[in-house]
Amino acid sequence: MAEKSLGKAYESQESEARWYQYWLDHDFFRAEDSSGKPQFSIVIPPPNVTGMLHMGHALNNTLQDVMTRYRRMQGYNALWMPGTDHAGIATQNVVEQELAKDGVTRHDLGREKFIERVWEWKEKYGGVIINQLKRLGCSCDWHREAFTMDEKLSRAVREVFVRLYNEGLIYRGDYIVNWCPRCHTAISDLEVEYEEKEGALWEIRYPYEDGNGGIVVATTRPETMLGDTAVAVNPDDKRYTDKIGKKVVLPLVNRIIPVIADSHVSIEFGSGAVKITPSSDPNDFAMAERHHLEIVNIMDGNGVINENGGIYQGQDRYEARQSILRDLENGGYLLGKKPYSHNVGQCYRCKTDIEPMVSPQWFVKIKPLAKAATAAVIKGETRILPAMWESTYFEWMNNIRDWCISRQIWWGHRIPVWYCGGCGKEIVSTIDPVECPGCGGSSLKQEEDVLDTWFSSALWPFSTLGWPEKTESLKTFYPTSLLITGFDILFFWVARMMMMGLYAMNDVPFKDVYLHALVRDEMGDKMSKSRGNIIDPLEMIDKFGADAFRFTLVALTAQGRDIRMSEERIAGYKHFVNKLWNATRFTLMNLDDYSSSGAHVSKDDESLPDRWIKHRLNITVSEVIKSLDEYRFNDAASGIYQFIWHELCDWYLELVKPELYGKGNPEKRRAAQLTLLNVMMSSLKMLHPIMPFVTEEIWQTLVGDGTSIMVSEFPTTQDTSHDPVADRQMGAIMETITSIRNIRGEMNIAPSKKLKVVISAPDEESRAIVEIGGSYITNLANLEALTITGNGEESKNAATGVAGSMRIYVLLEGVVDFAAERKRLEKEMARVDKDLAAISKKLANQDFLAKASRAVVEKEEKKFREVRDKHSVLAAALNRLQKMD
Ligand SMILES: [Zn+2]
Ligand SMILES: [Zn+2]
Repeated sequence: MAEKSLGKAYESQESEARWYQYWLDHDFFRAEDSSGKPQFSIVIPPPNVTGMLHMGHALNNTLQDVMTRYRRMQGYNALWMPGTDHAGIATQNVVEQELAKDGVTRHDLGREKFIERVWEWKEKYGGVIINQLKRLGCSCDWHREAFTMDEKLSRAVREVFVRLYNEGLIYRGDYIVNWCPRCHTAISDLEVEYEEKEGALWEIRYPYEDGNGGIVVATTRPETMLGDTAVAVNPDDKRYTDKIGKKVVLPLVNRIIPVIADSHVSIEFGSGAVKITPSSDPNDFAMAERHHLEIVNIMDGNGVINENGGIYQGQDRYEARQSILRDLENGGYLLGKKPYSHNVGQCYRCKTDIEPMVSPQWFVKIKPLAKAATAAVIKGETRILPAMWESTYFEWMNNIRDWCISRQIWWGHRIPVWYCGGCGKEIVSTIDPVECPGCGGSSLKQEEDVLDTWFSSALWPFSTLGWPEKTESLKTFYPTSLLITGFDILFFWVARMMMMGLYAMNDVPFKDVYLHALVRDEMGDKMSKSRGNIIDPLEMIDKFGADAFRFTLVALTAQGRDIRMSEERIAGYKHFVNKLWNATRFTLMNLDDYSSSGAHVSKDDESLPDRWIKHRLNITVSEVIKSLDEYRFNDAASGIYQFIWHELCDWYLELVKPELYGKGNPEKRRAAQLTLLNVMMSSLKMLHPIMPFVTEEIWQTLVGDGTSIMVSEFPTTQDTSHDPVADRQMGAIMETITSIRNIRGEMNIAPSKKLKVVISAPDEESRAIVEIGGSYITNLANLEALTITGNGEESKNAATGVAGSMRIYVLLEGVVDFAAERKRLEKEMARVDKDLAAISKKLANQDFLAKASRAVVEKEEKKFREVRDKHSVLAAALNRLQKMD
């Protein structure tokens, strides 16, 4: 092996940029359209084109990259399909805000010019998140990068729309929708966020038409009375039995409206009589349908009272409330006002209060689609993991309402429906029609509305693969193998992909869905701007390197548990990178005369540590494979970490030093070199999917044959490495060394001080172990003499340890000054006692517990445990010393 070496420290920034470019140059991310290999495919949850990489993206894409790299190394034709979402409302808002800086609205520009501006914006800034994903190390097949508004994907959108329409699964109807007066569009039920607000409940009297008294209704929104078309009571409410069918006069408006009976009215709420405003409340809208009530729209799209509002026309909804309350009061109609807190719906995008409004909208008749999507999960064609999410999925599917897919914005897929100016025919077509098939006229006007963004993302798993064309990619990669996404878009996205995939492809879009938790801060709180606890992924990558950051995310991802992220954790895994780096430097130093084409290494030349580390590697490989196959990401990470840090670095590298330094014979040295090289290579491969950059950097130096670790073969278990005897023997030897080291620590004996140790090995097996392991024990525990006896007699002035059936006596005569040591320990003990008392007092103080933050209390509790542990160690040492003189 030619002389090779690594720099003193790993320079992540420089290395990451270099290796990412190397992978791109070698086209390692590319998946074959068709191949003899088994296929593995993932479609990326397309980030918004306006997006900036946040912790959620970082987690999500790290997990996808781990699985893609892992399968690729296992020999799969692995596709990770990347792309972005046009994000209708979000993107339109961004560009509108830009225009607003120049005092221009989108209406000033007009539709066509505005859309041009959005495309310009997209070309300029739309790639930001893609480059951020590259910083993270994502191995997407960038040749295939898709955008939901691409020509091909847009074609898929039209195709699905037209099919659904022709089968009667898309319809247009008047419907009450959640209207955002600021964004000027309907938004779906899922996009409404509810917030509890302090409001009031006003009691208003509506006089009977015949002049004999009146009926009292209660409302939180008095301004909506302008649109009232009935008053409703419960048919079982004895107070109103003789009032049903009577007429009342709507105050201020003077409209005559009926008193109707409907069993949905609650007898307990307010007076038991409620005003019915079908245009402003979804429940009232449903009641109007049952009773064929008139629907009077009273507001325009800005939330301003329209011509149906009489003298209030032109007033904003909040302004109108005040005017109406004043006029009701003056007219003697207002009977009372009580404080009342209730949930108010807000636009998820801009936080404006939602105004329910009746307007013509397009809908997907969802029940038939939901039925198939439910059945597919019941039959196990798609697995949802963790399994607890399955029931949530079923519940939602069973209670699903028709999906309102029209949005009154400009940026998006314009609905492919044209209205004929000649005969009024509605034309629905995948290609823009030039004349009306009904009358031959050419005065055609396309529907103004665009589709909900989630309509195109629902098609993502097949539209990105070329559907409706029957492409090779589609044949190869659909259904995809796995989807990894946050649980928060199970309904927005996952459920809709299920429905659309089954509809268009007649097959599920993915075999497995893995839903991960939210990334929270270390106290378990949600990260938010207002809390100031946001951790920026790019800042972490700059500071600690992408590998340490990725490893942290993976190590924290346990199924069904929140992810508590902190900078300290990332810093901790940066040490792991350093550890690996230094282990490689050590390896390289000891391989300088090693040649892989050298003489054959016989199994007999392998030392016990060689056999042991190969056995441990084998077990780790099997556990890591099992963990990744079952998406137990944290288990995979911790398996690799434990092996590399503790078994390989802490033990093996120390144990084989004598062989490597040539203290044995040349054959044994070569065997150690070979084992070391092979174990290092396997470790790097196992680690590569989680830490791609540093493993590549090390691989290129250590292996140095011009191959990339990215396309090397993931380790498999080797029957020949299975060696439980070595494992048992090495285990006992390590236990013995640990036991001596512990005594050294407890008795405050310097590591450089050589010790005399007597080991009593009562049986054949333990005797054999100490004989084989004697030199390892002597080296690693730093002994000057090791004596083995068969009997278990107590040695005087010795500290005792136990390992299996063996007893270990560390002789302290002349090593420890018993009196001085006892004094030191007693002093130390007094200090610890004082600390312990202080912390206990603090933790028992109710005042402190009530006032301190959770973080502070947890810190105190941790301190308490540490001091308590120290206390018991000191007590054991003192106890030991009491017996000596
Ligand atoms: Zn809004
Ligand atoms: Zn026509």
